[in-house]
Amino acid sequence: MFDDRLEKINEECGVFGIFAPGRSVSELIYLGLFSLQHRGQEGCGIAVSEGKAINHYKNLGMVTDVFNQSTLDSLNGYLGIGHVRYSTSGQSKTQQNTQPIVARFQHGQIALAHNGSLTNAAELRNHLMERGSLFHTTIDSEQIVGLIASHGQDDMEQAMLKAMIDLKGSYSLVIMTENKLYAVRDPYGNRPLCLGKIGEDGYVVASESCALDAIGATFLRDVEPGEILTIDENGLHSTKLFNHEKNALCIFEFIYIARPDSNIDGINVNKARRLMGRELAKEAPLDVDTVIAVPDSGTTAAIGYAEESGIPYTQGILKNRYTGRSFIMPTQEMREQMVKLKLNPIRDALEGKRIAVVDDSIVRGTTSRKLVKLLREYGAKEVHMLISAPPVKYPCFYGVDTGNPDELIASKKSVDEICEYIGADSLHYLSMEGILRAVEWSGCGFCTACLSGEYPMGTPNYDNVKAALE
Ligand code: AMP
Repeated sequence: MFDDRLEKINEECGVFGIFAPGRSVSELIYLGLFSLQHRGQEGCGIAVSEGKAINHYKNLGMVTDVFNQSTLDSLNGYLGIGHVRYSTSGQSKTQQNTQPIVARFQHGQIALAHNGSLTNAAELRNHLMERGSLFHTTIDSEQIVGLIASHGQDDMEQAMLKAMIDLKGSYSLVIMTENKLYAVRDPYGNRPLCLGKIGEDGYVVASESCALDAIGATFLRDVEPGEILTIDENGLHSTKLFNHEKNALCIFEFIYIARPDSNIDGINVNKARRLMGRELAKEAPLDVDTVIAVPDSGTTAAIGYAEESGIPYTQGILKNRYTGRSFIMPTQEMREQMVKLKLNPIRDALEGKRIAVVDDSIVRGTTSRKLVKLLREYGAKEVHMLISAPPVKYPCFYGVDTGNPDELIASKKSVDEICEYIGADSLHYLSMEGILRAVEWSGCGFCTACLSGEYPMGTPNYDNVKAALE
């Protein structure tokens, strides 16, 4: 039970905000969220304001399922925010837990969308409840709204700064009142958040720069760790309270989460993944005929491996683009066939060949095990598994669903044992030094908690989490 609930606090999400005087923004938010869909497929929502009142719509489902022309037409405003959400289990799959969270406090209305996970969520909820706060959801993001509201005697910027002092963990936020847009990034800059310009006097903030591209906005810069941006009719204003020597940008954004066409804190995701593949080729040279990828997450690293090794890259597996997380599998037999429905090997590329297959990570081992078997069935003579990151051994408390520790195969088995479990001829992971070489040239500091077990922003107090959830 506890494990189930522990999973619930892990989420991957995408946020988007826009302030564009004279324009109607709901369709732009829709496009922005559509390009952030890879960050969360379980629910989504949009809140907008025409200056006087916040209007919103949110539901479970993908962006194209939740919104249609008439819902977008009903959302009038020149400023607004949006959210896509992924969570893992049980209770959290309710409409109530979708975002933006919209509430009323001393200053009027507030809407908030959050990417990340707080490590002191339980303590904050208890603290706020003791002071009489009511909660409508079971998500930690509601504590952020509660904390800001608890400082409602101050102006918004002050209230947010005071809230940030109490918030622990990971948060990239877009917040709006009836006539202002705010963007906030936690002091470690754990989750990405960038700023762009649209038109003469419009601004956009988004989890990834690909969302700026989607609406024709120009990238200006990343929101800095610990920074609060205020955007209103007076333009852009920045406040910064915290200054950490080293930030802790999530390395898993570069391994798996972000889109290769995005830039995060000066690092192009495609470049980072290609370099990971190149490092892997230096660390694990193989005598094989061809390099293939597990699409799409392994593709860029596989190209990097091929470039460095000189071994030809071939498309060896075809991905069915229409099997999202919400894909309905009517029978048990079909559920078991899921990997094959999603990833089908191409016999012509494999028959009689020694294959190196690149993926970004092994979580539970399900995909690799089924895939290795399939590749052999489709004629591969040898199957060597290459993983373009170190083993994922530890849970993430900062907003990525990497599964709970019991499920992480690398936390229980050695590399040789995993190799045996997945049935490959060999298995190689990129080393920690190798992955850092692929990204550290940027000058950023990274959170490697899921790989190293070192948590730069601390971990939740398990007893408190447990107590609060019971
Ligand atoms: P598994 O089958 O459990 O070993 O999962 C490995 C596959 O899941 C790989 O192909 C990864 O690209 C993908 N993956 C890695 N991390 C995540 C995540 N946080 N959410 C969803 N899929 C993931």
